Amino acid sequence: MARVFVITGPSGVGKGTLIRGLMERLPQLELSVSATTRGPRPGEADGVDYHFLTREQFDRKVAEGDFVEHADYAGRSYGTLRSELEQRVHAGVPVVLEIEVQGARQVRAAMPEAVQVFIAPPSLPALRTRLVGRGTDDPAEVERRLRVAEEELQAQPEFAHVVVNDRLDEALERLVEIVDANLD
Ligand code: 5GP
Repeated sequence: MARVFVITGPSGVGKGTLIRGLMERLPQLELSVSATTRGPRPGEADGVDYHFLTREQFDRKVAEGDFVEHADYAGRSYGTLRSELEQRVHAGVPVVLEIEVQGARQVRAAMPEAVQVFIAPPSLPALRTRLVGRGTDDPAEVERRLRVAEEELQAQPEFAHVVVNDRLDEALERLVEIVDANLD
């Protein structure tokens, strides 16, 4: 059985960028593609960035027990499909999940052996600057995400590993070290 790596932390903290770097450095890792009810952003493709589902499709999968974890985030639903995890883990392929904090807690309860890493911003103002700067969310959405972020930051002490993403190269180095040390 291969390891599952959960990478969590507030929106805009750089999880996506760090994970891309991580997967380049450790190419045996595979990324779980999540399901969501939010619409695709420009450039996002169905089945690649997310499985984009309608509310009805998502709720049916919840009812059928298809999710390892799922959570509501800023008014939308997100979840990790069992089908993204189980075959890979049984085949010995280590899998990376990029999820928010409530989902990370559910994975911790269901799979205590999963390695959990919290990515923290240097500060809340720095997070705001990044969320505004990446330009993917309108101002109301940025404010929603910052409110969630304040709560998520309080969850840091629950995590065995915390990486502060101040300088990207240093944060990536630290993340690679943590994952590499836990690959079986
Ligand atoms: P975004 O809309 O920016 O792509 O994602 C919003 C938040 O949902 C991010 O914190 C992201 O990590 C999280 N997220 C993405 N996929 C999942 C998932 O499968 N489960 C959970 N719980 N959160 C997810």
